[in-house]
Parts: sequence; C-alpha cells; structure tokens
Amino acid sequence: MTSLGDFRKDFDILNSGDYVYFDNAATSQRPRQVLDAVSDFYKTSNANPLRGLYDLSMMATEQYENARAVVADFIGASRPEEIIFTRNTTESLNLVAYSYGLENVHEGDDIVITVMEHHSNMLPWQMVAKKCKANLVYMEPTEDGTITKEEYESKITDRAKIVAVGHVSNVMGVTNPIKEIAAFAHSKGAIMVVDGAQSAPHMHVDVRDLGADFFALSGHKMLAPMGIGALYGRYELLEKMQPFLTGGEMIEYVTREDATYAEIPHKFEAGTVNAGDAVGLAQAIKYLKNVGFDTIKEQEEKLTTLLMEGLKKMPYIKVFGSEDPAKHCGIVTFTMEGVHPHDMASVLNDDHVCIRAGHHCAQPLMQFIGAGSTARASVYFYNTEEEVEIFLDKLSKVREVMG
Ligand code: PLP
Repeated sequence: MTSLGDFRKDFDILNSGDYVYFDNAATSQRPRQVLDAVSDFYKTSNANPLRGLYDLSMMATEQYENARAVVADFIGASRPEEIIFTRNTTESLNLVAYSYGLENVHEGDDIVITVMEHHSNMLPWQMVAKKCKANLVYMEPTEDGTITKEEYESKITDRAKIVAVGHVSNVMGVTNPIKEIAAFAHSKGAIMVVDGAQSAPHMHVDVRDLGADFFALSGHKMLAPMGIGALYGRYELLEKMQPFLTGGEMIEYVTREDATYAEIPHKFEAGTVNAGDAVGLAQAIKYLKNVGFDTIKEQEEKLTTLLMEGLKKMPYIKVFGSEDPAKHCGIVTFTMEGVHPHDMASVLNDDHVCIRAGHHCAQPLMQFIGAGSTARASVYFYNTEEEVEIFLDKLSKVREVMG
C-alpha cells in the first residue's frame, strides 16, 4: 500500500519545501504522473483529434474518447456520450443555462438556487431569469450552512423549472443534501443542476444516485491541468438541446443557409478540442482512485480537525460554517478581529503560506453572513499535520505584525 507521504513525493511543487499550500479549493497541485501523461500525448500522439483519417489523428481521437469514458465511469454516467468536455465548471454551467435554460424557462417560472452559490452557478441563472422573465428564488442556509428540508420544500414549488445547487460550498465547506433536493425538485417537475466543482475532488460521486440531470466539474481542482472540465448531462436532455457554440467539429452537414449538427457529445464541442488536457484529466482520475476517497476523506478530516482546534485557541478568530470538522470538506473560512483578510493573506505570504482572502466569488453569501471579505484555508490529501502547525503558528503572529 502506498502511504500519503509517498503520494506527496509525486508533487514537485510541494516537495520544494518553499510553500505551505492551503488554497486547494481554488486549484489543486498536479502530480508528475498527470504532467507526464499530458506531455506524452504531445510527444507521441499529437494531431487534431476527430478530423484526420491518418493513424496519428486516430490515435489522438482514441485517447480523447478514452478520457471521456474514464470521466463517465468516474461519476457514474450511463454512457460516455453523456460527458461533454468543457474548459471548466463555469463553462459547463453556462452551457446548461444557454442551451437548456433559455429554451425551457418561461415567463413566471422559477429558477431555484441557494445564496451560497459560487458566482458560476448564480450569474448564468440571473441571465436566464432576466431574459425569460422568470423568478430567481434563493434558498438560504442555517448558520452552520445547512439547507433544511423545510427550506427547500418551501422554496421549490410547482413553478420551479430548474433547481441549481452546489454539491459542496466553496466557502462553508458544507455538503448539500443533493439527493433529497433532487428528488423533491423532480416531484415538482423541475430538473436538477449540480455544481460539482468542490465535490468531485473529494468524494465518490454517482450522478444517477444523486438524481443530477446535469453535473459540472473542473479538472484543475482535482489534480488535472487548467482548461479542462466536464459536464454530465442526462442523455435524453442533451439530445433535445441546441448547441451552445457553433463552428467546426460539431456539424453533420452544412449548406450556405443552414446546418445540421453532429450527434452528442460532439454537438456541444465546437472547434478543436483540448485532447491533451482531457488525457491529463483521465490520468488525474486514475491517480485519485489509486489514493482512494476513503483515504482522502480521512486525511482531510484529520487536518481540518487540527486546524479548527488551533483556530479555536485564538479568541479573535471567527470560523464560519459547522463546528464539526467532518462537515467542512477541507475548507475552513474565517475572519480575524481587527485584521482585514487581505492583510492576513499578505502577511502569511511573507512566510510562504498560501491562503485565499476575499469574497471567494460568492458575494451574496458574504452579504448573507455579514462579512465583506473572509480568509479561507483549504487542505487536500497531500497536505500534512506539520503544515497545519506552521500555518497556525504563522497565523497567531499575524496580529502582532499588524500591530
Ligand atoms: N463552483 C464552485 C463551488 C467553485 O468553488 C468554483 C471555483 O472556485 C467554481 C464553481 C468555478 O470553477 P472554475 O473557475 O474552474 O470554472
């Protein structure tokens, strides 16, 4: 069995010893295996996929389509065609908003989201609501970040056409009860869109078990390169949808006046695809499976517990979300009395400790919790207890520095 220490050795940037990297919710680091897989693709199989009739192009196509099958299997899709490669979660959610939302939402309908959403799962729905003259309804969490049964049952009514919820909040770290919300949304005739940017890196996801009609993820948050993401869509829905972008690759036949489109998934992948990074994503999934989600969860919980216990000893720190470290998915958001989060992050940066400070692309949530800005430390399985101790030690000195 490989130990966590052995896995950590695969991450050159962590081994440099230069940084304590606690901004994993923004983007993860990548192991050598992923970087090698991308590099090998360009060294051995590079050609424009899906276009050429020669061996090299067919090899590129095969690797690209194989990556699609790996993603499909990873999140429990029923067939690879249900996976569309995108640049990231943001693009995936915009695809759903433009291609499904604008066509299926009408005047007076409701789109139901939560106030905890990342802007990526909020602005596309604001756009659809405005264009379709629909209502954007917000579910609100309790203080510990929970969306209660009473809350979703009162906000999701027969008017709801789309319910769009983040699986894990990038600020509170809370895991939302997607399965229950999806079942209720379906009973009201709405479809369920899940923003999986913060869940796919940390837990086993089964889109069909969750009841997700659409599920979006970003490769860069789960060990893969930046610029590759995926959208799962239920086959019957994707088949009926119009393309998001048009142009090369996504057509069947084009005349001067009109065009017919390719079958899914290619109908939604206009232009030259990002095959190299799709191969990287497949390798990242292989790597995550090798580490195992049980191990990932165990390590994240251990580190989050230490972190929160340490923060508790600093009476001038306020932590947001649940008091239970197991309910944080490695994300701890906090404020320090008398010190702006930007100053905190900047002082920690002097000690090469990387945390996030700001509104975390969740401004309505910041308004809801009454904080203009917060600091966020987020751990992943490759972080260590020693790093948590360094972080806590440096943080405890921030107030002295800020005088
Ligand atoms: N949704 C959540 C919950 C996120 O945390 C993020 C990124 O931080 C996104 C969506 C957007 O991801 P990306 O920037 O990769 O599109």
